[in-house]
Amino acid sequence: MGDKGLSVSRHPRSLGENRYVYAVLSRRAKGISIGINLNPDKICNFDCIYCQVDRTTPSELREVHEGELLEELESVLTRAKDGGLYQEPRFAAVPEAKRKLSDISFAGDGEPTSYQRFREVVSSVADLKERLQLHGLKIAVLTNCTLLDRPAVREALAILDRSDGEIWAKLDAGTEEYYEKVCVPGGARLAKILANILEVSRLRPVVIQSLFLALEGAGPSIEEIGEYCRRLQEIVLGGGRIKLVQIYTVARRPAVSSVTPLTDSQVDAIAEQVRRVTGLPAESFYGSSAWQE
Ligand code: SF4
Repeated sequence: MGDKGLSVSRHPRSLGENRYVYAVLSRRAKGISIGINLNPDKICNFDCIYCQVDRTTPSELREVHEGELLEELESVLTRAKDGGLYQEPRFAAVPEAKRKLSDISFAGDGEPTSYQRFREVVSSVADLKERLQLHGLKIAVLTNCTLLDRPAVREALAILDRSDGEIWAKLDAGTEEYYEKVCVPGGARLAKILANILEVSRLRPVVIQSLFLALEGAGPSIEEIGEYCRRLQEIVLGGGRIKLVQIYTVARRPAVSSVTPLTDSQVDAIAEQVRRVTGLPAESFYGSSAWQE
């Protein structure tokens, strides 16, 4: 993949010669997010119909070499800190106001918590952040929540609690049926995801990230969004803390070609319903179908 310019509809998981660490202009992080890919083999325990990871071509890289990953991260963070990173050609089209480091994120080409040494990598990243004196820089974990009940993952989250960590918990449905349809989770149950979200959100406030889409032109039903709001209410009633609900839609080429973004007004209507029904803060992030042009 060439080193083309960044935009919110273009999220290459590459940066120069790097194999694990990349930079994206994130509409939700509102700046430059430094991504860590712990799933270079592109294997995920979900199979979301909107997934942007291109699994039609095999991955050239299967292993995570942690030393290399940390070297890449140190180099990128150092260049971001002194501003040198933004002088690189790929940042030329990024508006000046967005040329700022907004977070380090564990995202990549699969479920980051599925990496067997997730806790150890998290610990090393937190240490590196300290050493580079990037105090206050957020470390976000974008997760489908299936593995948050693993003891080692819980320990990793506890490390993040001490290092500006934030959990972005995926919740794309209110019913098992719709969840199966959109995330195709192959055995994982929505009930388990909800239980995991409740558990972690009792210990620290979490961000809920919810992608809604149109499938063959049809968005989620009114009933589905009603059920989704009830699931959020149940988390809060169970003692969970939700600091923000992100309602967003497709912005990059999805795995299934009949998936398209919701319109801006559809995204806003869901966010408004979340605010009205649950009293939680909700933010809209609009989509794009630029990949079709
Ligand atoms: S959980 Fe994330 S990486 Fe995995 S299939 Fe879904 S969108 Fe893709």
